Amino acid sequence: MSPTSTFFLPARDADTAIYARLSRDRSGLSENVNIQIAEARDYADEQTWPVVGVFKDNDISASKYSTKPRDDYDRLLGAIRRGQINIILITEMPRLYRRLEELLELIKLAETTKLRRIQTTDGISYDLSTAEGIHAAINAVNNAMLEAGRISKRVKRKQKARALAGKTHGGGRPYGYEKDGVTVRESEAAVIRECAERFIAGESIRDIVMDLNTRGVRTATGCEWRIENLQRTIMKKRYVGVREYEGQEYPAEWPAILTREQWDRMEARRLSRQWRWPKGQTGTRKYLLTGFLYCGRCGGVMVGSGRTRQSGQPAQMRYRCRRTDNHGRVIGCGKSFRVAEPVELLVKEAVCHVFDDPKVAVMLAPKVDEDKVRLLVQEYERRKAKLDQLVTDYATDVLSRDQFIQAKGIAEASVKEAREALAHYQDKSAAARVPADQTIREAWDTSGLEWRRSVVQLVVEKVVVRPGHPGSKRWRGYRFNPEFIEIEWKS
Ligand SMILES: [Zn+2]
Repeated sequence: MSPTSTFFLPARDADTAIYARLSRDRSGLSENVNIQIAEARDYADEQTWPVVGVFKDNDISASKYSTKPRDDYDRLLGAIRRGQINIILITEMPRLYRRLEELLELIKLAETTKLRRIQTTDGISYDLSTAEGIHAAINAVNNAMLEAGRISKRVKRKQKARALAGKTHGGGRPYGYEKDGVTVRESEAAVIRECAERFIAGESIRDIVMDLNTRGVRTATGCEWRIENLQRTIMKKRYVGVREYEGQEYPAEWPAILTREQWDRMEARRLSRQWRWPKGQTGTRKYLLTGFLYCGRCGGVMVGSGRTRQSGQPAQMRYRCRRTDNHGRVIGCGKSFRVAEPVELLVKEAVCHVFDDPKVAVMLAPKVDEDKVRLLVQEYERRKAKLDQLVTDYATDVLSRDQFIQAKGIAEASVKEAREALAHYQDKSAAARVPADQTIREAWDTSGLEWRRSVVQLVVEKVVVRPGHPGSKRWRGYRFNPEFIEIEWKS
C-alpha cells in the first residue's frame, strides 16, 4: 500500500451498500433519490469501495412516527443478514433511520454479521464494532431528529465537517478571541478567567456584571454586559477548548481559556438549588439589612419599605417593623421606622472596624480545600461518564429496556447528588473574600450588595432598632441618633 492509501480498507472488507431515501417528514429532507445515490457512488469510488447493492425507498408520506415498511430497507437488512455488506453508505443519518429502535436493530445485526460501519458521504464514520462508534451513532440519530429542518442541509453538512475538524462556527467574534476565533485576546481572556473564579467563589452574576460595567469592560460587540449575557458567555464550552455540534463534543482548534474543572464547578453552582436566577429588577434586593434588623419595641423583624413623600420624587428607603405576615397574621407592632441610609452606614462602619483587626480578617477568611474540591469534581465527572455508559450498554444489549430505564433513573439521581455536594461545598466556602490588594472598606465600596451581606453575616448576629426619636441629634448629616442602634455580634 502506498502511504496515501492508509485510510482505505482492503477491498474484501469494504463491500458497500448505498441506501437512499426520499422523505418529506419532519427532518425536512426532500432531496432527489438519484442525487443521493450519485453522491454516494462518487464517495465510494473515491474510497475504491465496491458497491454491492443500491437500495432506495420513497418515504414521502411517512412521518417519523410511521411504521409503514420500507421495502428496500428490508431488502438491505436481508443482504446484511446474508453477510453481503460491510458498510452502509448514506448521505446523512436521517436517510437511514426514522426511529432510534431501527438503529438499535442494526447495531445488534453488526454483532453477528460482517457489517462493520455506517458511513456518511460527508466523511463521518460510525464504527459499529466499538462502544464509541455505537454511542456516536445513537447520538447522531437522536440529534439529527431534533436538529434536522432547522438549518438547510447544505449549511448543515458544512457545519458538520467544520465541527469534526474542531473549527469555529464562523459568525461574530467570540469574546476572548480575535476575529479568527482561534487567537486568544489576552485582555478578554483575563476577564473570562476572573468572572469564572468570582462566580465559583460565590459572587452573584449580578454583582460581577455591575462591576464589569462600572470598570468599562465591554462585550465583544462593545455593549454593556447584561446578566443573562454574561452567564451564557462564561458557561460556553468553547472556553474549555471544545467545539460543540449536535450535542457532541469535538476537540477545538483553538486554545482553552478555562479548565474543565472550572467549568464543572460553575455548572454545579449554576444548577444548585441554593442559587436563584436573578429575575429582572423586581426581585432585586436593595436593602442591606433585611434579615438582620429587629424592632426594639416588639422584637419583630424590620423590612425594607420605600416611601414616596411627593409624587415624582424618588422613594426614600426606610426600614419598618413588619406588622402582618403574608397570611395577614399579626407578627409585630408595625410602629418602628428608620431611614435606611444612616443605619446601613453605621453598620458598615462597625463591621469594617471589626475587620481592621488583621487577626479577625485572617480568622474569617474562607478556606477552600482545593483537594476536597478536586475530589468532588472528579466524582461528578465519574458519575456523568457512568450515565453515558448506560446508553451504550443498552444499545449493545448489555441491558434490557427495563433495566436501562431503571438504571438511568438511578444514575441521573446520582449525578445530581454529586453536583449538589460540589455546589454545597462551594457555597460554604464562598462567603466573603476580600481581594488581596484591597482593604475591606475599598472592597465594600466596589462590591455588590450580596457580597456586603455575606460580610455582615460573618460577624453580625442581629441589629436592634430601639424606639425613640433623634430629637435635635445629628450624625453624619443625618437626623439620626446612633445610640438607638444596637449591634449584637457573633461570638
Ligand atoms: Zn415592632
